[in-house]
Amino acid sequence: MAQRTFSIIKPDAMRKNHAGAILAEIERAGFRIVAIKKLFISKAQAEGFYYVHRERPFFASLTQFMSSGPIIAMVLEKDNAITDLRKLMGATNPANADEGTIRKKFAASIEENAIHGSDAEDTAQFEIGYFFAGYELL
Ligand code: GDP
Repeated sequence: MAQRTFSIIKPDAMRKNHAGAILAEIERAGFRIVAIKKLFISKAQAEGFYYVHRERPFFASLTQFMSSGPIIAMVLEKDNAITDLRKLMGATNPANADEGTIRKKFAASIEENAIHGSDAEDTAQFEIGYFFAGYELL
């Protein structure tokens, strides 16, 4: 059954003009773009988004990075969207990412790693609702 997930093209990929190439990979992999917008989030908004990581040593750096420039937030749909997007993204650290994955192609470091994708049903629901209103999800 079609499933929805949430994704962000992160500020590093935006700065390097990789947004179009990443979107092409996502569409080629069979995802439907349900909703999409470019926006600039504050550090406080990044902290709310990454609340689950608040105790991690990289929390301050990560939220600084995520508010350092524009991002593209999107909702994607396909069968097994959550797992399939995580596969397409590759490992968090691009040094460990498989050939052909988005992070292998476009990420520079474990933090500046080009793309976010929800890791489970409950986080996908939270993340979609954090950035999009119901009427935008058509
Ligand atoms: P993801 O699900 O693959 O995005 O990884 P996580 O949920 O574990 O971490 C969220 C984000 O925090 C990652 O995508 C990275 O941008 C960043 N991050 C994760 N681990 C580290 C780390 O060890 N150091 C730093 N600086 N950033 C990290």
